[in-house]
Amino acid sequence: MTELRASTAPDPRPKTRPNLKDFTPAALRERLASEGLPAYRADQIVGWLYAKGVDALDEMTDLPRELRETLAERYDTRALEVRSVAESSDGTIKAALATRDDRVVEAVIIPEPERTTLCVSTQVGCPLTCSFCATGALGFTRNLTTAEIIDQLCRMQALAPEGRRITNIVFMGMGEPLLNLPNLIPAIEILLHPKAFAMAPRRVTVSTAGVVPQIGKLLDAVPVNLAVSLHAATDAVRDVLVPLNKKFPLAELMGTLRELPRISRRHPIFFEYTLMEGVNDADEDARRLVALLRGLPAKLNVIPMNAHDDAPYRAPSDEVAHRFMGILVRGGITTTLRKSRGADIDAACGQLANREAPSLPA
Ligand code: SAH
Repeated sequence: MTELRASTAPDPRPKTRPNLKDFTPAALRERLASEGLPAYRADQIVGWLYAKGVDALDEMTDLPRELRETLAERYDTRALEVRSVAESSDGTIKAALATRDDRVVEAVIIPEPERTTLCVSTQVGCPLTCSFCATGALGFTRNLTTAEIIDQLCRMQALAPEGRRITNIVFMGMGEPLLNLPNLIPAIEILLHPKAFAMAPRRVTVSTAGVVPQIGKLLDAVPVNLAVSLHAATDAVRDVLVPLNKKFPLAELMGTLRELPRISRRHPIFFEYTLMEGVNDADEDARRLVALLRGLPAKLNVIPMNAHDDAPYRAPSDEVAHRFMGILVRGGITTTLRKSRGADIDAACGQLANREAPSLPA
């Protein structure tokens, strides 16, 4: 009897309600249909949340007042709040964003002449423990929900420099996106949906350390760009830098990539190679890399290591970096040497670790 009483007593904990941003536009239609609402109501809400960037239900003025009130009782529309913002001298903007349970993830806006890219996180921390990555040193807390993934774009668009729309999304923030496919794929569907963000699939890039069985699943679901964090051309070196390599070694990873459908010169696979002095920057490493990528439509981004306190690695000299690049280019590999952005605010690749950068109040 006491049990029965306990279960009918009001729950003293704050209610966590479903979030409208956890639903793809198609799923939202279904959900609202089950509550007796026509499909166009779901489409109107999608338009407000994403195309117009309004998430106060009260402000969705083409919905009947009563409906706005019922929805506001039943659903949340925000998943993240801006905790702090830091702006780099090169224009890069990093924000710390807090979840409802007070976890913090980071997102970074990278303004370029032709586009404005947002770097998005998919997990709180990361389970992969790559030896050179500051996020890896944090350990893993949990996957982000779909609403938390997509809300990074909603919050960050408001922080973008005047008149700049975010045009490109890279899933290169905290976490391993391919270990969170059930929440990532719906978030990408929202990015691509014509009534939501209407992004072209080629403006969206998902980066992976090489979770081989998930690669095909991602690309079957959404036709986005794939980037692979390579960092080494031998298993011996890659095992140390990217421990996931022990589970999915290079031969298996490259074999899977070579079999992917829809990869072509126009739609290549992107590779990241973080260059570390004395670790993976020898001429021999460059030659092995050429052999590894030969014949595969690929674009290679070489990123000099962004040094930080959690790892013993550093970038080689410019001379060594250019020598390394030279071997790749002569080997016929399309290669770019990436200059780091946002290093002064710990916003560069592999530096996202919730460190307090000199920050402005949000
Ligand atoms: N887990 C995914 C998504 C993160 S992308 C992945 O590994 O691809 C972040 C990129 O920055 C990865 O290529 C990562 O290897 C790279 N990186 C991590 N730490 C770095 C550092 N200190 N300097 C330069 N690049 C780094």
